[in-house]
Amino acid sequence: MEKWQGWDKIQYEAGLDPHFGTKIASIPGGDKLLACIQCGTCSGVCPLSPYMDYTPRQIVAMIRAGFKAEVLSSYTTWLCASCYSCTVECPKEIKITDVMYAVKRMAIQEGVYPKRFPTPVLASEFFHSVEKTGRSTESWLLVRMYLKTNPFKMLKQAMLGFNLWRRGRMGVGVESIKRKDELHRLFTAMENETRAERRAGQEVRP
Ligand code: SF4
Ligand code: SF4
Repeated sequence: MEKWQGWDKIQYEAGLDPHFGTKIASIPGGDKLLACIQCGTCSGVCPLSPYMDYTPRQIVAMIRAGFKAEVLSSYTTWLCASCYSCTVECPKEIKITDVMYAVKRMAIQEGVYPKRFPTPVLASEFFHSVEKTGRSTESWLLVRMYLKTNPFKMLKQAMLGFNLWRRGRMGVGVESIKRKDELHRLFTAMENETRAERRAGQEVRP
């Protein structure tokens, strides 16, 4: 049974974003989002829904109703393990996993993901590391993630990191590929293509 969220969760219409649902539904294959019948199958099959602040069914309902701030700051999408069970079982063929990704992207773009929650910070640092060096150096990735989320936890993990380094399981040097210029050309081409797609989408939309 889904837990009672309490009276403090009451939201008034003036605080909603009426375009939020259509924005999320504009992702490829996202148009079916608006056809959700609120059957709850997605929440029932989701292995992580007991740990989420809003279940997948609630997230879908909140997206459609325009609860942008609540959805973008929710833990749910960051706990989603992309197992695709909800997508496979949904009777309306709604791509719920892709919706979770769309929410995550928007939360990062707008900087409103749950504060001090490590997953979005880790995702962002991972991307920056690969973009800069072509490699993800685990030790530095963890250091940067902990510094931005919970520096005290880094102190607790220091002994574990030291033991991994001693046994040759974790390096401390920053790894890098040789022809980084080719990688940067690839990223530039991807960015240009994404910008062109966004512009084309805006021109088509009324
Ligand atoms: S399984 Fe599909 S139709 Fe049912 S609540 Fe979830 S998203 Fe909606
Ligand atoms: S893809 Fe995410 S939301 Fe869907 S069932 Fe798996 S963990 Fe739950």
